[in-house]
Order: sequence, then structure tokens, then C-alpha cells
Amino acid sequence: MMKVLQVSAEIFPLLKTGGLADIAGALPQALNAAGADVRVVLPGFAAILADLETPSVLAQTLAPWGELVRVCQGRLRTLGVQAYVIDVPHFYQRNGTPYENLQRQPHGDNHRRFALLGWVAAQLAYGLDAHWQPNVVHSHDWHAGLTSAYMAFMPHSGARVASVFTVHNLAYQGVFAPSYFFDLGLPHGAFSLNGLEFHGQVSFMKSGLYYADHITTVSPTYAREIQTHEQGCGLDGLLRERASALSGILNAVDEAVWNPATDPAIASVYSADKPAGKARCKTALQQELGLAVRADTPLFGVVSRLTEQKGLHLVLASLDAILRRGGQLVVLGTGDAALEVAFQGRAAAYPMQMSVRIGYDEAFAHRIFAATDITLVPSRFEPCGLTQMYGLKYGSLPLVHRVGGLADTVVDCSLEDLAEGRANGFVFNHFEAHALERAICRAFALFARAAEWRQVRGAAMRQKLGWENAATQYMALFQRLCA
Ligand code: ADP
Repeated sequence: MMKVLQVSAEIFPLLKTGGLADIAGALPQALNAAGADVRVVLPGFAAILADLETPSVLAQTLAPWGELVRVCQGRLRTLGVQAYVIDVPHFYQRNGTPYENLQRQPHGDNHRRFALLGWVAAQLAYGLDAHWQPNVVHSHDWHAGLTSAYMAFMPHSGARVASVFTVHNLAYQGVFAPSYFFDLGLPHGAFSLNGLEFHGQVSFMKSGLYYADHITTVSPTYAREIQTHEQGCGLDGLLRERASALSGILNAVDEAVWNPATDPAIASVYSADKPAGKARCKTALQQELGLAVRADTPLFGVVSRLTEQKGLHLVLASLDAILRRGGQLVVLGTGDAALEVAFQGRAAAYPMQMSVRIGYDEAFAHRIFAATDITLVPSRFEPCGLTQMYGLKYGSLPLVHRVGGLADTVVDCSLEDLAEGRANGFVFNHFEAHALERAICRAFALFARAAEWRQVRGAAMRQKLGWENAATQYMALFQRLCA
């Protein structure tokens, strides 16, 4: 049986700041269903420790900087997965996000907090648990980026364990001042161009890219894009060198969580075959938010981190294209203060047409996908993107910029793709407000043709987005690396 150790900082539903958590939460079960034996290693954030069933201490181990740390072991109740948890309260039990304090500043010791994750993962690769040793260690994003470096340098007897590193977003790199290198316990040679040095700094992301046996990213298009100067975030040279060990595996949707036919968070369940409940969800949300209760006007939705990456300034610039035509918009998000203020200001001026909630609210996100007709995802770049896939599942047609995973999942309503039954949303090519406005016009035009709208919505909802396909690809990769 293929034994896989998954290394990540977040895991849904226990701890989530973005798509990484959704994937880390769904992948173990998907791989187990495909015949693997997956365990996870996680930092001991409060929510994770609290979920650990009958925890026991597996080991006390010395961190590279000499501190004695405790590794617990148990089963995560919510996920039904065996977990190793690094129990160091002064590192992980803090206010704020996993990465930042309440003032939205990165914690000053993040290099240690996440080096420890890679360190413990590498020890688990090579014998920390005498009863279980993985064949593959699969680490995710910069937080787990040191895993493969530690594995590369760890003395061991017996078989080599394969390492796979998955990039969920190349823009977040975990870069630290060079003096921190001495905390990490790596040989001097690692701090070089052929290692994790990046313009004189320590880069956890580069460590993952350089030392892993194989790199994956979360869509085939993004795998190509990150090898270009425009989207390589300074690492495209290395990624081109490693092109033969780099592949894209498209993320999927956890259908136990995101399914309008069974979703307990929405006003009325529905499906592609019985879509009537979707109209009830729309009415319910319009009432909840004090919008005009109208079935005959399209309701647009945004569920997003409010950051530069997500292209939401284009939505602000194109707002009139929605409002002038009588359309409605609901926004749920948090992040950049200027964007928060701008969206709130516009909503105050159009209370019957626009509603903005600043914050993070999982259940509200479900109600938005269920109620809206269109999900806006105009990202500047998008490694995979999950919200457009949730939009597809919930019959809220995605309107997206043709980039990354958005390009791999959404087919524009061009006449030929409509005729061939492939169309499932709206796509614009140039990252500018005018192009977004034209796509918004297309959405209004299709909405006015009710029969065609229903047809496209049905195609969107029937699209296969489950984990089987991705799990098969990961398993094939793991098997190839272990052969
Ligand atoms: P990213 O990881 O870049 O944030 P993704 O589209 O891959 O983007 O994943 C975003 C995930 O976070 C989705 O599950 C989305 O529903 C969720 N999400 C984002 N913002 C919010 C919010 N304000 N409230 C609830 N869920 C949110």
C-alpha cells in the first residue's frame, strides 16, 4: 500500500485561510479512496489539537535551534485521518491568522514556526514513528517548503523516501533575512544559488522547488505560466530548469462539502435535474440582505480574499455595467483595507442593488453560491481557483479572466461552444475593465434568453469536478516516483 505523509499548515474544516486548506482537507480522503494510506503532519494550532482523538505523545525531538519539542499523534475526529501534531503552544497558540498577528504583520519567528513543520516531517520520513514510515512525503506551499531540503540532507539507512512539493500560490514565498539561515540547521552549502538562497535571502518556496523530487502545481495552465518571466515571481529560471519534474494536476471540489443537493447551509436544496430550489435561494438571500426581491435580474456574487491578485479593482471600475442594467451584486471578503472601504462605499449608495459584507463566513459563502446567477473571478493570476468551481457546482456561472486554473475550468458562451454544449460561463482575455464589462454584457445577454441560460447552467452543474480524477493522477505520480 502506498503510504503518504501530507505536510501542510492548514486543513479544512479545522483551519482555513484559503484554497490550500480545502485541498489539504479533501486530498487525504480522496487518496485513501484510491487505495493509499495517508497521514498528515500539522502545526499544533488550537483547533487542530482540540480535534485530536485520544492523543498520545509520539516523541520529544530537538529542533534545529536546540529547543525540545513534542510531537503528538492521534486521529483527527472531523476528518477521520491519522495525524501527527507538533505541540509547541508558544509557537502556534496565538491570536491572528496562522501567519500574521492582529495587526496583520507576519509573526517575527515565522521561519522557526514553519521550519519546524518541515523538520518534523523529514524526521517522520526517516523513522520518528517506528510503526509507520511513508513512501512519499507530499508538502504544500512555502510553509512546508523546507521539508524536502531536510529530507535531502538527513542521514538515513534504508530506502530513500520520495518528496513531492505542491505550489498553491507562487506569489507567497516565505522569504527571510539571511541571518535566519543559521537557525535552520542546514549545511552551509544549502545557502547558495543551488539551494534555497534567493537574492541573498532565505526562501522556503525555493527550497521546495529546488530539493523536491517532483513539483506539482494546481492546474496545467499555471504549471506553464510559472515558467514565464511574467508569472514566475523570480523563480521561473529554476522552474524551467526543472520542467521535466514539474506538472499540473487540477484541483477538485470536495462534493461532501460543496453540493447544492445536500447542502445544509442553503435555503433550499436543488440539483441540475431539479433546479427549482435555486430560485428560492436567490429570493431568500435578496430578503436577507435587503436587496430588491427580483427573479428577473441577474445577481452577481464575489467570495474572495480582497487582494491585488483577485482583480477586484476591475469589478469596482465596471460596477456601472451591472448597476445601470438593474443587476445586483453581493460581495463577501476581507483583506486590503482600501478595497474594503471602496466596496462598502459603493454598496451604501445602492442599497437595493448591492450588498457587501467584510469578514470571513463559511456558511454565508455557501448561501452566496446557491443564490447568485454569476460568480465573478476576475483574478490577475489564479493558480487554480476554487470559487469558480463552486460556482459551476451551484449553477452560478463563473465569469473569469482567462488565466491559470480559471482558463482550465471555464468555457466562454461563444456561439460555437453554446452550440456544442460546452459553454459553462464567461471568459475575458485582457486584464482590463473594458474586457470585464464586455463579459458582463454577455452575461446579461444570455440571462435574457432564459432557455439558453438554463441549458448552460445545467451543463455547468453537471460538469465532473470531483476528486477521483485528481487522486488518480497523484497516485500515478507517487507510484512512478517510488518505482
Ligand atoms: P485563494 O486560495 O487564493 O484564496 P481559492 O479560490 O483557491 O483562492 O480558495 C478560496 C477559498 O476561500 C474558497 O473556499 C472560498 O470559498 C473561501 N473564501 C474566501 N474568502 C472567503 C470569505 N470572506 N468567507 C468565506 N469563505 C471565503
